[in-house]
Amino acid sequence: MDKNWQIETKAVQCGYEPGNGDPRVLPLYQSTTYKYDDAQSVADLFDLKREGFFYTRLANPTVDAFERKMAALEGGVAAVAVGAGQAASMLSVMNLAVSGDHVVAVSSLYGGTVSLFTNTLKKCGIEVSFISPEADSAAIAAAIRPNTKALFAETLANPALIVLDIERFAEAAHAAGIPLIVDNTFPTPCLCRPFEFGADFVTHSTTKYTDGHAQAVGGIIIEKGGFDWNNGRFPEFVNPDPAYHGLVYTEAFPAAPYSVKLRAQWIRDIGAGMAPFNAYLSNLGVETLALRMERHSSNALALAEFLENHPKVSWVNYPGLKSSSQHELAKKYLPRGCSGVLCFGVKGGKAAGEIVMNSLKLAAIVVHVADTRTGVLHPASMTHRQLTDAELEAAGVSPDMIRVSVGIENIDDIKADFDQALNRA
Ligand SMILES: *Cc1c(COP(=O)(O)O)cnc(C)c1O
Repeated sequence: MDKNWQIETKAVQCGYEPGNGDPRVLPLYQSTTYKYDDAQSVADLFDLKREGFFYTRLANPTVDAFERKMAALEGGVAAVAVGAGQAASMLSVMNLAVSGDHVVAVSSLYGGTVSLFTNTLKKCGIEVSFISPEADSAAIAAAIRPNTKALFAETLANPALIVLDIERFAEAAHAAGIPLIVDNTFPTPCLCRPFEFGADFVTHSTTKYTDGHAQAVGGIIIEKGGFDWNNGRFPEFVNPDPAYHGLVYTEAFPAAPYSVKLRAQWIRDIGAGMAPFNAYLSNLGVETLALRMERHSSNALALAEFLENHPKVSWVNYPGLKSSSQHELAKKYLPRGCSGVLCFGVKGGKAAGEIVMNSLKLAAIVVHVADTRTGVLHPASMTHRQLTDAELEAAGVSPDMIRVSVGIENIDDIKADFDQALNRA
């Protein structure tokens, strides 16, 4: 790989580098097991003294190639692929915090992440407190406690579409000696690379644009490298790990201690790694990621402008619109496009919105976003159903909100479909 390659080239070429006479295309290694000639080779693998594969629960060549490609796209040093975006969110935090610790997150998160953070992490003894994505530096600093281990946010919030001021959050996190984790699912590295603005870890639900074809559930955690672990907050990184004969992650693996620890402790112990077939499909999806994100973004902007001028529409939220409160931040963080998701409300509220949703022909009602096909969803009664009214408001979800995931079909066909459906309301 050439480090100077542009993102379009990396998406096609990185991750898998075939040798002389090897298959040109990344093969699916559908094998749990790897053969060795002598016992010492395997012992060295178990001791993390050499790289290689011995059991697919820990690592697999197809998954490994996908991880390398994603790390290259984000500009990180290493990546660990997991079974779902939810596992990525959970493990990104669990690799930093233990029972009794605390995490600060912005409130405008994906509904599943809100549930995970408020309910499941609490059962693990980790407390999460929420702050506004618009919090200023002083408010962020005030939320950080002596036992806080991470700051967590989404680059482009699902579905509030609030653009994170990554630099402000990264600076506040670093001033307190904690890392910033950014869920970059919606922009993908083709539209925004949070490491360039100071984030320390990036997570994705690869189920969304990364796979892009609605075929494989998955997640990934990517490490930027270079975080200062030796500040007293992270004893697990700088003290010997009894599970590995007293290995010290920052000393044995200075380039990517977080990723090695994540794999050695969490992926090994709970088996949440990505399956080879899903890595194979996701890798195939990524080859066209740059092209797709261009089309998703241009279609979404065109549909947003069309809806904004439609007499039956009461409001439209898309950061690419000049009327959006997020437009200035979008110009800075998403100059190549604002991705493919927009939200709008129909005059007449929730009931009229339901008629529109039911009248769409090309756009289907799906509990999904970010694949090639246009789809719609009503967050308040679907993805965010478990949230209280207060949590809905904090997540930026109004009762009449319709979320559109704009596909890569011809924009005239998409607009015509929304026009005929709106005219029935
Ligand atoms: C969908 C989604 C998740 C959860 O991912 P799964 O792959 O469904 O587990 C997390 N974050 C964001 C922003 C998402 O859109």
